[in-house]
Amino acid sequence: MSRPINKTNNKTNCQICQQPAVMELQHGLLCKNHFIAYFEDKVFKTINKYKLIRRNDRLCVAASGGKDSLTVLFLAKKYCENYSLPASLFALVIDEGIERYRAKTIMGLKKFCRDHKIPLKRASFKKEFKKTLDEAYPLINKDSKKKPCNICGTWRRYLLNKYSKKYGATKIITGHNLDDEAQAIVMNLFKANTKLAGRLGPISGIKEHELFAQRVKPLYFCPEKEVKLYSVLKGFEINFVECPYSREGYRYQIQEMLNDFEAKFKGTKQGIINSFLALLPKLEADDLNDLEQIKQCSRCGEAANQEICNACKLTAVIKNKDVVNKGVVNKGVVNKGVVNKGVVNKGVVNKGVVNKGVVNKGVVNKGVVFPSGKGNWN
Ligand code: SF4
Repeated sequence: MSRPINKTNNKTNCQICQQPAVMELQHGLLCKNHFIAYFEDKVFKTINKYKLIRRNDRLCVAASGGKDSLTVLFLAKKYCENYSLPASLFALVIDEGIERYRAKTIMGLKKFCRDHKIPLKRASFKKEFKKTLDEAYPLINKDSKKKPCNICGTWRRYLLNKYSKKYGATKIITGHNLDDEAQAIVMNLFKANTKLAGRLGPISGIKEHELFAQRVKPLYFCPEKEVKLYSVLKGFEINFVECPYSREGYRYQIQEMLNDFEAKFKGTKQGIINSFLALLPKLEADDLNDLEQIKQCSRCGEAANQEICNACKLTAVIKNKDVVNKGVVNKGVVNKGVVNKGVVNKGVVNKGVVNKGVVNKGVVNKGVVFPSGKGNWN
């Protein structure tokens, strides 16, 4: 439980040094410097307790340029420096191709990486799957229940795993915070995805498998508002734009519900996390039993739980839709344009346009006079 200080709070000074407070935590008020120290200490303790970073790790930080990824990128680097670890670190950004959104956050991320001397690698939906998310979603939207976040999540997980391995990473660091994790737990619970739930937790992913890099979450115990305040107090230049698709997803509904509950019943999100962590060993044991089920996708060679991985299946569906749609459009152009504009009478009929069905759709029957002997094209 924590809340930023505002004018309506009665007490306004830090309980440690009496400077103006910026955050009220369950155990008292903290000023800027003591809040930063408290926050960093919490993140470093999480890394130590769950052994999220080891001495010789090569760390891939999944970065988007948002507050969570910049915070975790900064603190992962600081942790390695503080403990003089030889671990190396790079940021990996995945460009989904979301107009008026991703380009802005990538710009901020590039500057951040430049300023902090962190190598930045890049992958994109367009390059890998030949479609941006903006192009793919309308193709699949009409007759499937898939939301943009379903497509985005499938392709992004795939690229994160593929490119982290390509650049030699032993771990993937993500910026998931306590709010994200509470949402994911409830989503899996509501959808009865107990197997997926076993892959949540501060360190997730299937352990010791050549096809996966483990995912770790140093911000696991940090509520979103603490991450936001930390990033602001540290002066990170963050573009707080919201993904235009975010409100279409299932997660958004869960997020709203949990925020509502948290406002009424303080500590709800922390309670979800605590309950989940108590159950996690059992869920992980079940998940590890599935380790032998992991296959290699027969198309791309990446990890799959069936013969073809989800990313390849999705790509194939979108490609097929694209081909079908292009065919329909072409037929439409012929029927609606060329014939109706009178090309028939100019002799194109004989070149076969009529045979594609225009005559059958009523031109003949409506009394258009054709040369003798050509009225039976039906
Ligand atoms: Fe992708 Fe959905 Fe996140 Fe937007 S909100 S970046 S579509 S997962």
